[in-house]
Amino acid sequence: MKRALITGVTGQDGAYLAKFLMSKGYEVYGTYRRLSTPNFWRLNYLGIMRKVNLISMDLNDTTSIMESIEISQPDEIYHLAAQSFVGASFEQPIATGEVTGLATTRMLEAILKRDKDIKFYNASTSELYGNSSSGPLDEATPFKPQSPYATAKLYSYWMTRLYRDAYGLFAANGILFNHESPIRGLEFVTRKITNAIAKIKLGIEKKVILGNIESFRDWGYAPDYVEGMWKILQNETPEDFVLATGETHSVKEFLSLSCEIAGLAMDDVLEVSSSLKRPLEVHYLVGNPSKAEVELNWTHRMEFRDLVKEMTEEDIARWDSFINGKPVIWDAQHYDDNNNIIKTRYKMDA
Ligand code: NAP
Repeated sequence: MKRALITGVTGQDGAYLAKFLMSKGYEVYGTYRRLSTPNFWRLNYLGIMRKVNLISMDLNDTTSIMESIEISQPDEIYHLAAQSFVGASFEQPIATGEVTGLATTRMLEAILKRDKDIKFYNASTSELYGNSSSGPLDEATPFKPQSPYATAKLYSYWMTRLYRDAYGLFAANGILFNHESPIRGLEFVTRKITNAIAKIKLGIEKKVILGNIESFRDWGYAPDYVEGMWKILQNETPEDFVLATGETHSVKEFLSLSCEIAGLAMDDVLEVSSSLKRPLEVHYLVGNPSKAEVELNWTHRMEFRDLVKEMTEEDIARWDSFINGKPVIWDAQHYDDNNNIIKTRYKMDA
């Protein structure tokens, strides 16, 4: 039986990947960070909480990383843990550099010291491209990061390549375009929209407040993408791959479709606030997944409309259950979409 270690198993991709690898017969180990209240809701939601071997690991501590590898004895490591939100990276650029950038080198060093045969997947991102080109973007397109998050990920991308080239590790980057699901974090715009639309539909909220609604993103479905991660590590040689749908849609289109599915009029619910805009914006991303399609036989399955539908309907069903006193496994009851959290770094003109 193969063994996999997933860092960030409590996140969207970590949870889906754990479930996917179990379906392939893997023994799955997952790391989480110790918090006062552990964040295991996604593992519970997917019904795998008791099947994942959980290891508390600190990404800033090489000893802790070595210990996780020692315990799990993995054939494959999927390094997903990161401060993954672009907006927060402007507020905490140094912490983002540590966790999203430098921690990848700690992981690679640990592999080099412990067992050079462990295969390593690094979670790279389409944010690396910034506004470098209007695309479609592929493995050969130059990078031009536009946020502390993307800059930290760029470092992490190159360290993964460096350990592959310099030390012969099987280390590969998946350059993944945005992928969403009903277990996406609430701070990300897609889930922020579907959660707010569900609340408006049920009369709990009146408005969804958004920043830049003219950004375009290539949005896929997270379960499709975790399969791609696995395929990247099953390839004969360690290589970097773009995973994308090849289609792009604006935030406004996402909102409009979510409203249509919920039976609401977009103009009645949308409020745009420039205070939510970032110091630098990535305007338009669309990927070219041809290499993964040809060499890995990977393709996305879920289309944009179905993705928005699943997310919107799931959030409506959750809120409906919640207000009717039925049990729901989710995150949203503790989260206020239109909260007054103060942006420490980039409060723009309101
Ligand atoms: P996510 O839901 O935000 O999950 C991030 C994971 O990292 C969570 O398990 C989180 O733990 C953990 N984490 C955050 N800060 C940490 C810290 N200081 N120490 C230890 N663990 C920490 O992100 P995702 O969507 O699953 O994405 C997985 C990876 O792919 C990330 O590296 C992300 O940057 C990258 N990526 C995502 C996308 C996308 O569209 N989803 C696209 C390209 C690349 P908690 O649960 O405790 O917060």
